[in-house]
Amino acid sequence: MTATAYLEKLNDQQRMAVEHGVGPAGCGSAGPLLIIAGAGSGKTNTLAHRVAHLIVNGADPRRILLMTFSRRAASEMSRRVERICRNVLGANAALMTDALSWAGTFHGIGARLLRMYAEQIGLNVDFTIHDREDSADLMNLVRHELGFSKTESRFPTKGTCLSIYSRTVNSETPLNEVLRNWYPWVSGWEEQLRELFAGYVEAKQAQNVLDYDDLLLYWAQMVGDPDLAEDIGNRFDHVLVDEYQDTNKLQSSVLMALKPGGRGLTVVGDDAQSIYSFRAATVRNILDFPRQFTPQADIVTLDRNYRSTQPILAAANAVIDLARERFTKNLWTERESAERPKLLTVKDENDQANCIVDQVLANREVGMTLKQQAVLFRTSSHSGPLEVELTRRNIPFVKFGGLKFLDAAHVKDMLAVLRFAQNPLDRVAGFRLLQMLPGVGPQTAGRILDTIAADPEPLVALAEVPPPPRTGEDWTAFIALMAGLRRSGGDWPSDLAQARTWYEPHLERVHEDAETRKADLLQLEQIASGYPSRERFLTELTLDPPDATSDQAGVPLLDEDYLILSTIHSAKGQEWRAVFMLNVVDGCIPSDLGVGTTHEIEEERRLLYVGMTRARDSLTLLTPQRFFTGGQHAQGDRHVYASRTRFIPATLLQFFETATWPIVAHAAGERSARQIRIDVGARMRSMWK
Ligand code: ATP
Ligand code: MG
Repeated sequence: MTATAYLEKLNDQQRMAVEHGVGPAGCGSAGPLLIIAGAGSGKTNTLAHRVAHLIVNGADPRRILLMTFSRRAASEMSRRVERICRNVLGANAALMTDALSWAGTFHGIGARLLRMYAEQIGLNVDFTIHDREDSADLMNLVRHELGFSKTESRFPTKGTCLSIYSRTVNSETPLNEVLRNWYPWVSGWEEQLRELFAGYVEAKQAQNVLDYDDLLLYWAQMVGDPDLAEDIGNRFDHVLVDEYQDTNKLQSSVLMALKPGGRGLTVVGDDAQSIYSFRAATVRNILDFPRQFTPQADIVTLDRNYRSTQPILAAANAVIDLARERFTKNLWTERESAERPKLLTVKDENDQANCIVDQVLANREVGMTLKQQAVLFRTSSHSGPLEVELTRRNIPFVKFGGLKFLDAAHVKDMLAVLRFAQNPLDRVAGFRLLQMLPGVGPQTAGRILDTIAADPEPLVALAEVPPPPRTGEDWTAFIALMAGLRRSGGDWPSDLAQARTWYEPHLERVHEDAETRKADLLQLEQIASGYPSRERFLTELTLDPPDATSDQAGVPLLDEDYLILSTIHSAKGQEWRAVFMLNVVDGCIPSDLGVGTTHEIEEERRLLYVGMTRARDSLTLLTPQRFFTGGQHAQGDRHVYASRTRFIPATLLQFFETATWPIVAHAAGERSARQIRIDVGARMRSMWK
């Protein structure tokens, strides 16, 4: 093997991980490898180098399976791989990384394999995929059919039912155990839930729809068949997984079935950053990984952080040091700086928003672009006041992990049209679509859907359904649209234009702001033009929808500079020069929405750690003295008084520079005295409210 320049940039441990099992004889002999290390130690970077190194040493990129946490992370990884290969392979690097086509999320890869193997496993290849909301809607339909919602008014909500179902599936744990451990207050409903879940599974099968969990479940079942497992496993010489600490039991089962001996398998992660246990992720996956093989997997640990300055790292280390359980060791860095992270006290959320915007602009004055800065929060709704302030001051931003473009009713309507055309058995789509027709209610819609479902050619049968009373021309137009979509089949994306022409009169009838919504539909068409087929468009959009921006548009403003707003969960794996974290107070982080078990509190601590370790040069934590609870309390909307998060007790204050904002510079005169009186007045009023 020729020593290549890119290897020399790595430290010894990173290099060991990159070169593991890659030698003069090729790269076919690599045994299982675990890279486990703290934040910013170069895990993702090492993984990208490993993929590049494999390719440079003759591995076929079409036979590399790379699984990351989001599609964005996957394409970022492909770009890095290309940059690394470029020096060695020249123009071929782009060709090679283009061929790295099996890079994506667990769910995305699952969907693709299921589509490929649909016939072998008795799945109709036209299956459509339900997002969480569709799944909850289907759960609701089944619940109604079984009569639980009417007779039992205290029956868990559709969302809770779905969460319970999902946890049971993803953790491969029996229902009674899930209820005992996670949902003790609904354990009285076990019998009904069992019946409901059986009905839900049956409905999905009958309607040819899969939910997110099915993508993993069917995949796991598929590789449970020895022949198929071998066939699929043999497609890939190398399987690499980033952020392994956030995978669940089902995902690890899939992985073990793909590579039973562990050959060619590399997983990377950090137990201190495990933040998805609410989706049944388990840190045991990463801790147990080495022992799942004989001989055991090799382990590489990394201890040098390349991301953050020393004072930021010291503060983050101090926070995670208080965790009860931890495998990875503390990190060190050579990035000296005199600037400690800031802990700012502000009066309320409006001041918090103002404070952040002022500082973001000040940073920009000294040469930091907006894109190099991010504001992170525990829960999507926390950024409300900040979004208002940014909009008022005309500062563009993109928000990750919040309300998605696709959640807008009119966009969902359009997608329902396409989904129904693709799979007319999809009842959630069918209900949504048919009820857009004036005069069609749930009963009529249900009857029509029953009729066509009984026919081997549902869309043909649809044309023969007698028009429901009072639908008149609307029905004729609808039938014509469906016939058009059925005929066009693969004529993409003109499908979407057809659907839009049909849908716009409905939009005008129902929504006052029809014009704005029409602009969104054009935007949707633009997004669609980037996909080769209707099926790919629907699948990929459902699995990884685009995020909302300050323009309410679907695609990020690519050339522009914009500030990043993100939930901490969605900020995983990323880094910015300046990071602000808002509402770093008890009740927000840790959130008071959970049950408050030790387990949950520990996860919140890790979440704070993940947030803090995103910062490279500057970190600011904000603690408003009071914040709006957004009506999550039974008493309704109200402000509550807040105190600094318990994860930064007084003993850790030495790691921060503490201050109050705005810094009142003037002498104790008339103005500050009045300000104090006003504050006290507000406090008194809210106490008696
Ligand atoms: P996280 O736990 O947050 O996912 P990570 O361990 O995956 O972090 P990376 O994102 O890969 O870390 O790397 C963090 C930063 O350190 C990046 O900016 C990366 O370019 C840089 N880095 C990693 N390794 C080296 C190295 N050997 N020399 C210089 N910079 C490095
Ligand atoms: Mg990473």
